[in-house]
Amino acid sequence: MKASIADQRSILDIQNFDFTTSTLKNKAANLPEIAQISTLTIKQNNARDLRIAAETELSDTKRELSRAEGDVEQIVTRINRDEARLSSGQGAPKELEQLQHELGTLATRRSELEEVELEVMMRLDGIKERIETLKNEEAAFALEIANLEIAKENSLTVIGSDIAAIDEDRKHTVASINPELLALYEKIKAGNSGTGAAALVGNQCKGCHLTLNTVELQRISGLAEDELVRCEECRCILVRGL
Ligand SMILES: [Zn+2]
Repeated sequence: MKASIADQRSILDIQNFDFTTSTLKNKAANLPEIAQISTLTIKQNNARDLRIAAETELSDTKRELSRAEGDVEQIVTRINRDEARLSSGQGAPKELEQLQHELGTLATRRSELEEVELEVMMRLDGIKERIETLKNEEAAFALEIANLEIAKENSLTVIGSDIAAIDEDRKHTVASINPELLALYEKIKAGNSGTGAAALVGNQCKGCHLTLNTVELQRISGLAEDELVRCEECRCILVRGL
């Protein structure tokens, strides 16, 4: 196949555009923010799950507290009743003695139940504190994620406009070259991990970086400038005279 020197140079330009574009796309897919956002989202979800569990624990403990308060109230009512009866002085001495004894037992029971109530209250405070801490953590993660999203979007915008600019240049270059040469380039590129054309520098193909043997080099140097040369190793279009 024949190709003008200008077309050969253009195909090399197209190759450079394509390399740059694929590097940029790769960069966009692997922005550090993407991994950071995913790590922080896991942490945020963990904090949310713990907070939800703590909220369930909170309502259970609130119920426990009202039970404990009810128990104390009951005892207090009984104590008040017994004390009223005792101070009225009515009843047989034996009965009054019994009442006195019962009051002693009730007082012990009351302090036990108040201790339980206090313990539940303290536990409740601890849970509330834990929920507050988890809420703060969640909010901090959300803020960090939001900032990373902005940074990611900004990077993607820059990369996107770089790619668009390259696309524009590529279109102009493509419009000026022989479509058959372009089709050949695309075909080779597809089967050669992205390399369809490369410069021949000295005795080295810049596509596969292998050196050409002397016989091949001599054969190439004998060819007309517009004769299209292919690398024997990687099969890419070799552009001479650079
Ligand atoms: Zn090669």
